[in-house]
Amino acid sequence: MKVMKFGGTSVGKPERMLAISKLITNDDEKKIVVLSALSGTTNTLTEISNSLFKSERAVARQQIDALEQHYQNFIIKLVQSEEAYNKAKAVVAEHFEFLNIILKISYSDALNKDILAQGELLSSKLFSIFLNEQHIAHEWLPALDFMTIDAEDEPQVGTIKVKLSQLLKKYPDTTIFVTQGYICKNARGEVDNLKRGGSDYSASLIAAAIGATVCEIWTDIDGMHNNDPRIVEDTRPIEQLSFEEAAELAYFGAKILHPASIWPAQMFNIPVKLLNTMHPQAKGTLIISDAGSTGVKAVAAKDYITAIKIKSSRMLLAYGFLRKIFEVFEKYRTSIDMVTTSEVAVSVTIDNDIYLKRIIKELELYGTVEVDANQTIVSIVGNEITETENVMQKIFDAISSIPVRMVSYGGSKHNISLLIAKEDKNKALQLLNRGLFSQESEPVKDER
Ligand code: ASP
Ligand code: MG
Repeated sequence: MKVMKFGGTSVGKPERMLAISKLITNDDEKKIVVLSALSGTTNTLTEISNSLFKSERAVARQQIDALEQHYQNFIIKLVQSEEAYNKAKAVVAEHFEFLNIILKISYSDALNKDILAQGELLSSKLFSIFLNEQHIAHEWLPALDFMTIDAEDEPQVGTIKVKLSQLLKKYPDTTIFVTQGYICKNARGEVDNLKRGGSDYSASLIAAAIGATVCEIWTDIDGMHNNDPRIVEDTRPIEQLSFEEAAELAYFGAKILHPASIWPAQMFNIPVKLLNTMHPQAKGTLIISDAGSTGVKAVAAKDYITAIKIKSSRMLLAYGFLRKIFEVFEKYRTSIDMVTTSEVAVSVTIDNDIYLKRIIKELELYGTVEVDANQTIVSIVGNEITETENVMQKIFDAISSIPVRMVSYGGSKHNISLLIAKEDKNKALQLLNRGLFSQESEPVKDER
């Protein structure tokens, strides 16, 4: 049995749904099809929720109406028969009735989660109606019946496995199952979600739970590229990555895959394939435990990083200083990405600055604190990259014109990270592409 996950743009238009109906019927292997919401829907639902939070009901109503219109237009093009159209209309009516009711309820976190869940419910139900019209036999599976997170908001593959296999047992003859990504139930039994972009995570958790032959992640690009294709020309898809490499790339900025989605696949050794719905023949990227090759494979960048430096002469020859500093971050549940130390100062980076003010206040007990916002982490990733000959020299030769704020080397064998100002990012990515992946040496123009 395999898992096929389709992202927002792969279901975002009626003709895309037709395309994926072909992809899921290409072979006879049993499969669970995991769907995202139509592209843009989760963003709009977030906006609706924000309007409610701010008690701007008139704004929320307008946003709901506009979204409903989008779905009305969508279903007209999606199905042909009157019967299917009426079913689709009923689904849209049901979910928008819910959204209209919430306008009368006061905002809560639980309500917010209910609102955010509507997108995947809508997309998967409409796709199911479409498949029925195409006479494609399948079962619609409610993710809320098997996808759960514990009290720490962590999914447990064991629990998901038990629930999902009970459900699947009811349909021994079914080949195609259709379910929702992203949504789940929390430990209190409420509707919850796996955070933005979480449908990938759903797919890999399901793949792990059923011991899938492969977890296919279908998007709108030919796999993971060796650099950011929006910024750098001549990037190319990477044919194979190890789980470690993929995790580093996903975490450090490659938008194509949710970073948490690597561990379930890795733990249960399920190959992950990144494929393109617009170009299904393309090879894409295969992520497996042993990807063979070593050396520099890709560059990724993560923006909106804040660097914090704590300087204190008391640190000189003292022990326990780092612990005290890290405890401040732990207290505010803020994770640290990069760390560098000198004898009298420590620099760390964070990507979540909601508690920044309080963190700074507490750090000031230990020394002088300096903050640099708007930084970017550029990561150079590849198996055993740190053991590759001349790698540091190549990197620094390539970006010699760019000021580097921090360097992280040796934390893992697969990653070298640099912290630079965000305004230098595009140039850095282009220069690194030239220095690491290509032979020609045309000058890169300064875009600052
Ligand atoms: N629909 C959700 C989002 O936009 C989950 C996903 O698409 O992965 O974040
Ligand atoms: Mg996504």
